[in-house]
Amino acid sequence: MLAAAVRDLPPGLRTRFAPAPTGYLHLGHVANAVAVWGVARVTGGQVILRIEDHDRQRCRPEYETALLDDLEALGFEPDEPPIGSLRPGVPSPYRQRDNEPAYATALALLDERGLVYACDCSRSTFTTWFARHGRPWSGSGCPGGCATRRLAREESGVTWRAALGGGSEGWTDLVLGLRPGEPSAGGDPPVRDRHGNWTYAFCVVVDDLRQGIDLVIRGEDLLDATPAQIRLSRLLGRAEPPRFLHHPLIRRPDGRKLSKADGATAIRELLQAGEAPAVLRSRAAEAIGLG
Ligand code: GLU
Repeated sequence: MLAAAVRDLPPGLRTRFAPAPTGYLHLGHVANAVAVWGVARVTGGQVILRIEDHDRQRCRPEYETALLDDLEALGFEPDEPPIGSLRPGVPSPYRQRDNEPAYATALALLDERGLVYACDCSRSTFTTWFARHGRPWSGSGCPGGCATRRLAREESGVTWRAALGGGSEGWTDLVLGLRPGEPSAGGDPPVRDRHGNWTYAFCVVVDDLRQGIDLVIRGEDLLDATPAQIRLSRLLGRAEPPRFLHHPLIRRPDGRKLSKADGATAIRELLQAGEAPAVLRSRAAEAIGLG
């Protein structure tokens, strides 16, 4: 599947592996790593490792250390940065927690255009909307119409959202082909959450831009997030969005996707139980049809 999908890619593309240290790496991560490193190897591209620890409540240094250990044990060495440079104690441009100014600068760009607003919608705003309309809320903005309410951004507990506007942001996925894309189908993405964390939706776009990532390889659970990411990247001044390749996910027997809570597939446990790295890599690859 992948060989045909990436046959015509130019050499020298920059792709990335971008785990969030909110738990231990599992087989799903290994499947993604096999795809990322595999495509980079056959196309002469580069792999950038990025620690996506934007969420200060959920990320833990011990998970970060464990994920670096697991990547080393499995033989996934990035082209940038050397894994050793991400060991605790040294700030790194490849770790989101250490790059506050990059997000503040991107926020200022959106602010100059009046695109950031405070939103006080809570879970109950969404459930009330559901009860009233008989379907979950979707569409542009947010259910409370906060874009026009001019709430104070300094207020505690408010989310900051970026107004993406309407229109379409379709793309040609390297595996799935032409995909239609409504950037605001899921509402305006949060830039900063109500706890004061920069969000995944925002950081991933800022980082793909500042790190020169031009090939995004990830699981298809993020398909729906792609149009908003393309639009946000344009609003931040990116002329050409990256290429996207979305691959299948490893599913549990009940069809749900694997999560870090599925301890049985935690890589560190499998390695400790004596599984060989090469066997884990090929088991993960086979599970998403790359075997
Ligand atoms: N940190 C994200 C995750 O672990 C990466 C998503 C992406 O590749 O855009 O799901």
